[in-house]
Amino acid sequence: MSALDVYVNARMPNTKSTVLFTRAKRKIPGGVNSPVRAWKAVSGTPRFIARGKRAYIFDADNKKYLDFVCSWGPLILGHANARIIKAVATAAQRGTTFGAPTALEVELAERVTRLYPSIEKIRLVSSGTEAAMSAIRLARGYTEREKIVKFDGCYHGHSDSMLVKAGSGIATLGLPDSPGVLRRVASETLVARFNDSDSVRRLFAKHGSAIAAIIVEPICGNMGVIPPDPEFLADLRAITRRHGALLIFDEVITGFRVARGGAQEIYKIKPDLTCLGKILGGGLPLAAFGGARAIMDLLAPEGPVYQAGTLSGNPVAVAAGLEMLALLSRPGVYSQLERKSRQLESGLNDVLTKVGLKAAINRVGSMLTIFFGVESVTNVNHARLSDRAQFARFFHGMLQRGIYWPPAQFEAAFVSLAHSDGDIRKTIQAFGDWARAESRGCTLRTFMLEAIERGEHWRPPRSPAR
Ligand code: PMP
Repeated sequence: MSALDVYVNARMPNTKSTVLFTRAKRKIPGGVNSPVRAWKAVSGTPRFIARGKRAYIFDADNKKYLDFVCSWGPLILGHANARIIKAVATAAQRGTTFGAPTALEVELAERVTRLYPSIEKIRLVSSGTEAAMSAIRLARGYTEREKIVKFDGCYHGHSDSMLVKAGSGIATLGLPDSPGVLRRVASETLVARFNDSDSVRRLFAKHGSAIAAIIVEPICGNMGVIPPDPEFLADLRAITRRHGALLIFDEVITGFRVARGGAQEIYKIKPDLTCLGKILGGGLPLAAFGGARAIMDLLAPEGPVYQAGTLSGNPVAVAAGLEMLALLSRPGVYSQLERKSRQLESGLNDVLTKVGLKAAINRVGSMLTIFFGVESVTNVNHARLSDRAQFARFFHGMLQRGIYWPPAQFEAAFVSLAHSDGDIRKTIQAFGDWARAESRGCTLRTFMLEAIERGEHWRPPRSPAR
């Protein structure tokens, strides 16, 4: 156990979060309903969140944090937006679910297809996992081929075909990432390297006639933010066309985030199928996949590819999504996000330069990652070289200063429209304070002194607290 583990575990013995986490671990595996929430990558006790308002969240002990997780992407307007709440309440009063079609779904389908010219028809589902899983089934059904190409480090939800990692370098045949995933299913997933078109060409040279689709995060968010090289997405488009395979853009993070029309609008590439989620649901469980009519019409009940959902197109979630899209259609929204995010990026970079800390900051629009200990990150291998121990110290240093950053190195931080210029300045200030302490090699001591100043009487534990 590192000094950081000992410190962060020991310093909050009686908070409500600690008590809740102990209770949670008795009844919920790992105490959480999604693994990253357990803070395994940074140690310590996850804060249990009681409420959120605009850019801030409040934990069970009513401690306030400036939030850059934003529920992992959906909350581009910040927390508890009054208009979304009203839309949700109005919809809920009419009934929370019918299992029958509603006018709202038609309206949402019409709106999304207007914003995404590549999407002629769309199907609503409840999670990004479902969207990607269904898009892949559809691609296999349409092409009558079985293999899928994904990229090392890209995440497309936890369906069996997608839970595949590559070894170091390029594994041509995928291995399951998790027990329970059948080897014969994983082996139909081929793994290439993001930003390396040749790695894709090699897979197609060998398996071209058997590949149904390439699925890609057009801007990677799940190995930290990594933008595509200028030609990369165009290469994927050309390779798939040449071999009669489909191109699937997983825009669960980037859809409505980097532009209203997602990464495909920015990079001007038209995929065959697109997955959407997160922002689309306005903070409620809603996702979608869609694409060319000829492909989508293969879905049941029009065609033979089966896909269904009891709560698909849920009226409360759709109402939240419609309100979200209405709010995002106001002029200047994305330039405002860009301005705030650029201010954050340049402030953080100034601190790095002044203090002399080595780190690379990658940003596209309002998604951003700081990779510690590396000069630049353009692929997953660079990302994996980053200093995760330093990231953990950074995370706790920021938390101490009231900033809630994603609790893992390979994640994107999100700026929302609710983050004020003052909030951004406060974040840069906190980063500067932490970075100066870090560069003197005394973050741990600083933590302790700060705790003592606040009257928390930090003492080293006799035996490591777990
Ligand atoms: N695709 C991408 C690109 C994602 O980032 C995620 C989740 N972060 C998913 C799919 C899965 O979405 P969900 O968690 O809603 O199942």
